[in-house]
Amino acid sequence: MSDTVSQNGTGPQPPSSSSWTIEDSEDLYRIRGWGDPYFGINSAGHITVSPQGDRGGSLDLYELVEALKKRNLELPLLLRFSDILEDRIERLNACFAKAIARYNYPGVYRGVFPVKCNQQRHIIEDLVRFGNPYHFGLEAGSKPELLIALASLKTPDSLLICNGYKDRGYIETAMLATRLGQHPIIVLEQPEEVELVISVSQQLGIKPVVGVRAKLSAKGIGRWGGSSGDRAKFGLTIPEIITAVDQLRQANLLDSLQLLHYHIGSQISCISAIKDAIREASQIYVELAQLGAKMQYLDVGGGLGVDYDGSKTNFYASKNYNMQNYANDIVAEVKEACDEKQQAVPTLISESGRAIASHHSLLIFNVLGSSDAPSGIPEVGPEKEHLILRNLRETYDSITPETYQEAYHDAVQFKDEATSIFSFGYLSLRERAKAEQLYWACCRKIYDIVRQQADVPTELEVLEKTLASMYYANLSIFRSAPDSWAIEQLFPILPIHRLNEEPSLRGTLADLTCDSDGKIDRFIDRLQSKSILELHPLKPGEPYYLGMFLVGAYQEIMGNLHNLFGDTNAVHIHLTPNGYEIEHLVKGDTMTEVLEYVEYNAKDLLENVRKATEAALQTGKISIEESQRLLQNYEQSLRSYTYLA
Ligand SMILES: *Cc1c(COP(=O)(O)O)cnc(C)c1O
Repeated sequence: MSDTVSQNGTGPQPPSSSSWTIEDSEDLYRIRGWGDPYFGINSAGHITVSPQGDRGGSLDLYELVEALKKRNLELPLLLRFSDILEDRIERLNACFAKAIARYNYPGVYRGVFPVKCNQQRHIIEDLVRFGNPYHFGLEAGSKPELLIALASLKTPDSLLICNGYKDRGYIETAMLATRLGQHPIIVLEQPEEVELVISVSQQLGIKPVVGVRAKLSAKGIGRWGGSSGDRAKFGLTIPEIITAVDQLRQANLLDSLQLLHYHIGSQISCISAIKDAIREASQIYVELAQLGAKMQYLDVGGGLGVDYDGSKTNFYASKNYNMQNYANDIVAEVKEACDEKQQAVPTLISESGRAIASHHSLLIFNVLGSSDAPSGIPEVGPEKEHLILRNLRETYDSITPETYQEAYHDAVQFKDEATSIFSFGYLSLRERAKAEQLYWACCRKIYDIVRQQADVPTELEVLEKTLASMYYANLSIFRSAPDSWAIEQLFPILPIHRLNEEPSLRGTLADLTCDSDGKIDRFIDRLQSKSILELHPLKPGEPYYLGMFLVGAYQEIMGNLHNLFGDTNAVHIHLTPNGYEIEHLVKGDTMTEVLEYVEYNAKDLLENVRKATEAALQTGKISIEESQRLLQNYEQSLRSYTYLA
């Protein structure tokens, strides 16, 4: 898999400084921006994790990974820090408590966790436990999620918000949950659900608490902007809400309507979009109360963003507000609207998933090798060289800070010509190799000049990407970071050690899949994003570990089995006074398990290979030793991890 393992940095190098410090690394990888208060760098140049923020101890991530490897936990490895999850819940509740105090809001906050964000049992169990002091509830977006929520939620006074498309079975189950002491709220997402709820209520003799999801005209922005507006997939338009009110009134159930919900999309990067939505929703809330509904809850959905690049801007990988601003704006706007119409304020609900779950998980993977673009300049032989080669050499010699741009165009043109001459049979394979080597030499020389310029012409930005080293990463993007592939989401990625050493190479990451999309070539940066990541030259015989951070929301469940790379190993780490404890260890899939997903039976497969081996033995095509070796390898593989050892 690895071409040449680059040892001495043949790729382009950033301006070198001999006195690289961990502060330089902090700055380069923007750790304070996205990692505060959970991640930092220690004097050994290793990433540290402080799962309780500034209130608790910290762990050396590199040492933790080494210790886990000694317990036979192979990479890639997903680390989940339950203390971070707890800290996120505390923070969110503290922000709302602070806002409620600041604006003298005569109501409370009762958050819920949207199960779809991470359905893993250990995580939901942790969330329920950590949420207990705050009466934190759960939100279900589908029938299977309702089953999870119903069985997991045991917190007094917490809410069970029932969203998503519903059939009679869903509604019955949700309503009957009342009998168990739960507080389910059935949120009408479709006009058809109104009659269904009325009918189930009459049949069971249960008066449900019902909510309505409004299609706001205030739009979210960015990737999930389509979650609101008239053409959104979910929710009722204003005329449909009025119809629902009339239907409920007729069925004597108008007092069941107690909640207004909206969700304008995930990762809202701009505070103004949040303000617009809450302003519009507050008015709808007040109006519904005046129409006779017994309004008690306002559920603002998700959307609270995560600052993946640490830039604190309205770039899609960031957000231009913090959690406290978010809580303040919601509390203040609702209070103002209610005061104006002399309406009692609602219990506030938010369904923040990303903001709660992202930080607690990170993926550690190793680099298997790297390859660089061809380097060096081919020798001039005794014979006269082909014209195209002479042209390329001349171009190379002509490169100066004044001419580099023109020289670049020439180099590209000559290289294209070389390829086409080759295709017509007028250039030998050896000559073509020389032409390509010369082309790369031109690119490097030009790049060295370009790097010193303040204003880089855009076409030359391509150079940086072209010359970058390729680092082969032991992971599948499709399994572990599907959003990086599907929607170009940015996650912070960086080495977890050697951070006191200058990362002298620039690289992109290629994953294990045989898919050309299986790569990462967009990374967080100061402004927008960059196409290369600063990395260290690999040292022979030494592992190089990278961490992908903030992956606790959505990535696990949306990951797929492309090329049959299965679930990664996962460990749940909890900080103790003496260090840490492994609370749970969830072994990743074996090959037998991934093969079962596609309906293969490991025993049958092995039997097929055994029969073929037997037949080959009979005809003398394989020796007995070879046959044993083959079968042993096959059997052992079936039991082992799908990633490379
Ligand atoms: C996905 C979703 C959420 C969670 O959104 P985040 O941005 O992750 O907080 C909340 N509510 C609904 C209705 C959703 O569909």
